[in-house]
Amino acid sequence: MTERSNIEWTDATFNPWEGCQKMGLGCDHCYAETRNARFGGGVAPNWGPGAPRRRTSAENWRQPIKWNAEHDAFVAEHGRRRRVFCASLADVFDNAVDPQWRIDLLQLIADTPNLDWLLLTKRIGNAHQMLDAALDVMSHGLTRWADYPWPNVWIGATIANQIEADRDIPKLMAVPARVRFLSMEPLLGPVDLTRIDINGWAEIYPLTGTTECTDDDGNPMPDIPALDWIIVGGESGPGARPMHPDWARSLRDQCAAAGVPFLFKQWGEWTPGVNVERHAGIVKTAMWLNSEWSVGMESLAADDGHIDDEPDLYRVGKKAAGRRLDGCTHNEFPRSPKEGHDHVNREH
Ligand code: SF4
Repeated sequence: MTERSNIEWTDATFNPWEGCQKMGLGCDHCYAETRNARFGGGVAPNWGPGAPRRRTSAENWRQPIKWNAEHDAFVAEHGRRRRVFCASLADVFDNAVDPQWRIDLLQLIADTPNLDWLLLTKRIGNAHQMLDAALDVMSHGLTRWADYPWPNVWIGATIANQIEADRDIPKLMAVPARVRFLSMEPLLGPVDLTRIDINGWAEIYPLTGTTECTDDDGNPMPDIPALDWIIVGGESGPGARPMHPDWARSLRDQCAAAGVPFLFKQWGEWTPGVNVERHAGIVKTAMWLNSEWSVGMESLAADDGHIDDEPDLYRVGKKAAGRRLDGCTHNEFPRSPKEGHDHVNREH
């Protein structure tokens, strides 16, 4: 929808349609639903089961064609291809969407080879089947997605906690893709990405790309490719839940140890004191106790029950909280498969 996105990890956003249904904890404070309700007079007309999704205008659908044509100028200015986040106000793999819309979207992606399309979903279990179904129609049954996953399509899964990581990372790994990534925003708990146990019968190591499992004949299964990119961020907006700094630190360190690009997108609404020292007069409003945070703790006096090695957090808003983690900006991206597959853009 917008040529210059405010989202730190993309250059542009494109919404082929609007509307969705909440899927889990990470959806609790969905800004897209709030926005839909704002334009709908207080009720979100395109949200929830049975609600119609709204396809965006033909003019909007022409935007990516324009961006695609601007490729040379974009590369001259930025030194790389343009990244487009698809569906910030919806989910590409939403079951409630007319399958023809997804076919049209895939055709648009095929028509814009100069753009890298970032398809981020909370429904990663649908992705492979829906890509296959769309491609089946487009190719008259001649091509499957697994035969040649398009190099300008990056597939991402949204993960909020360890339960979602254990459930959804194996599904993401099973989708044929040239780039796979996680958006861990809002991060709502500690997550170990170094090892995922699949119901006790297999282990995968998503950051290094190896497996520990055998097939029915006892032969080792082939290694899986490693994840290409991890994005981490805290929640913003009304009702935002704080992110414990150690959760973000741990993911930063896991990525560094494995050589996987790490982007720290934002603290969100809450941040540790080190980031707010210059905001005179700020009032401490929350703290961690025994690794738990709850709304009720907002009323605690500064030192009541405080455990020294757990941080106080301050509600200062997304902008003031910024995106520095222990004094560093982590702004790493994977290189587009169309440009080579190194890690680039390390800024500290
Ligand atoms: S999947 Fe995304 S768009 Fe849909 S309700 Fe959840 S947060 Fe909102």
